[in-house]
Amino acid sequence: MSDFDEREVSGLRIRIDRGLCVGFGDCVTESVEAFKMAEDGIVVFVAPQGVDRERLLAACDVCPVDAITVWDATGRQIVPS
Ligand code: SF4
Repeated sequence: MSDFDEREVSGLRIRIDRGLCVGFGDCVTESVEAFKMAEDGIVVFVAPQGVDRERLLAACDVCPVDAITVWDATGRQIVPS
């Protein structure tokens, strides 16, 4: 599996840096619909497209090691904020 997992979700580009993720699961706690722990103990996407935008951004922003980055449709980075 590559070090990066990336999705386009309602105008947002969301990237998990699997090399940075330390697997504490804060993002999963925040949104089990969007994220889950893979068998290697590192997070992967589930179905982020089904999650309300504000909740999704909050789940991305909660990461203590900034392993999740989000850009808006203009290419501006909005997470980490
Ligand atoms: S909050 Fe960050 S470090 Fe924790 S599981 Fe999610 S991506 Fe990994």
